[in-house]
Amino acid sequence: MSRDLHIYVVDDNLALAKTAEAVLENAGHRVTVCTESRRALEAIERDRPQVVLLDLMMPDMDGFEVCRRLRENPALAELKIVICSSKGYQQDRRRAAELGADGYIQKPIRAESLMEQIDRIVEDRLEVTFWGVRGTLPRPGADSVRYGGNTSCVTVEFPKGPLFVFDAGSGIKRLGDHLMTRGRVEANLLLSHPHWDHINAIPFFTPLYIPGNAIRIMGASQGDKGVRDFVSAQMEGVYFPITIQAFASNVEFEDLSAGSHELAEVEVRTMLLSHPGNCLGYRLSYGGRSLCYVTDNELFLPDSEFFSAEYEAQLIEFVSGTDALITDTTYTDAEYTTKVGWGHSCVSQVADLAHRASVQTLYLYHHDPDQDDDAIDAKFAAVSGLLADWDSSVRCVAPREGDRVKI
Ligand SMILES: [Zn+2]
Ligand SMILES: [Zn+2]
Repeated sequence: MSRDLHIYVVDDNLALAKTAEAVLENAGHRVTVCTESRRALEAIERDRPQVVLLDLMMPDMDGFEVCRRLRENPALAELKIVICSSKGYQQDRRRAAELGADGYIQKPIRAESLMEQIDRIVEDRLEVTFWGVRGTLPRPGADSVRYGGNTSCVTVEFPKGPLFVFDAGSGIKRLGDHLMTRGRVEANLLLSHPHWDHINAIPFFTPLYIPGNAIRIMGASQGDKGVRDFVSAQMEGVYFPITIQAFASNVEFEDLSAGSHELAEVEVRTMLLSHPGNCLGYRLSYGGRSLCYVTDNELFLPDSEFFSAEYEAQLIEFVSGTDALITDTTYTDAEYTTKVGWGHSCVSQVADLAHRASVQTLYLYHHDPDQDDDAIDAKFAAVSGLLADWDSSVRCVAPREGDRVKI
C-alpha cells in the first residue's frame, strides 16, 4: 500500500474536502486542501504533488478544465489525477478519461474504497481477487477451510474503468456483499459458460437489485440460446422464487463471439475451449500486462484419440507469455484416467501447457469437489515438481479463497 503521498484535494465544498482530508491523513498521507480551482491550478504546478483529487462542479473553473490544463503541462506527467464527483454518468466518466484523468471516484467518499482506489491508481496495477476456487459443486466443511469451499468467481480491478468479474459460482455471493460496502457498482460479468457452477449464484449477487448500478453480463451463446436466455431460464418457473424482472440495476446482456473485443480500454480476447457446449476462455490485456482465465477446459493426453495438435497450438498461442494463467486443474493424473471426456484437465497437462506457453505465474483453479485441502496441496506439489524437473521459469500458485494478487 502506498504511503506518505502528497495529495491535493480540490473541492469548493470545504466540508467534503475536509472529509477526504481526514481519510487520507489517517492513511498516512500529506494533504493540501484547496477550495478555489484557479488557485489550485497554480499551487499544483508549483508544489508538484503526486495525486490530485478533483471535484467536477466548481464555480470558477470546473474539474474537467483543471484536468485538461494540468495535462498540458509536461512537468506534471507523473501526476495522478482522480476526478471525485457525485455525478455517476457514463458521459462524465468518458470525458474524464479523454482529458487524461487516471481515475473517477463517485461521492460520497467511503474511507476503505477511497484508499483502495488511490493505491490502485498510483501503483497502476491490476488487482486479482479469488472469491471461489472450486469447481462443479461447493465443498463446505472442516477439511476445505484453507482453500475455501466456494465455486468459480474471480475479479480483476484496473486502475480505472469498471470491475471485471469472471463467472458467478457461489463465490460471487461474498463479492456482492463486499461491493455493497463500496457505493455504486459498475461491472462487466464475463461468463465462461452456463454450467451451474458458473452461473447459479447470479440471483444472489445483491448489486443486481440496486438501482443506479450498471452491470453487463457477457458470455458465449449456446446455439439459439443467448446469455439473457440462460441467465433468466435458471430463475424461471419452479427453479427460483423471482425472475430477472426483479433486477433493479441497469443490466445489459451481451453474447460474445470468439475473437477480439475492447471493453473500457481493456483489450479482451476470447477463445472457444475444449469443453461440452460453448465455453469461452478470456485474455485481458492492459498497460503491457495480461491475464488469462481459462476454465473449464480439457487438455487431452497426446496419445488420446481426442487429442488435437491444432487446438493445443491455438491455446498455447492464446495464453503465451501471460503474466497470470488461471486455469482448470480439476484432477490429479490418476483421477483423470476415469474422467476422460468430462471436460476438465489433470495436473501434468496443465504444467505442460504453462511451461510451453512461457506463462509467468500459473494459478491452479476449479478443484474437484471430492478433493479436500490436502488433496489440493498434493496437486500443487505435483505441478511444482514437474516444473522444477523441467527447470521451468513458470511460478505455480494454488490460490485460496480471499487471496488477492497484484499484477
Ligand atoms: Zn465448472
Ligand atoms: Zn463446465
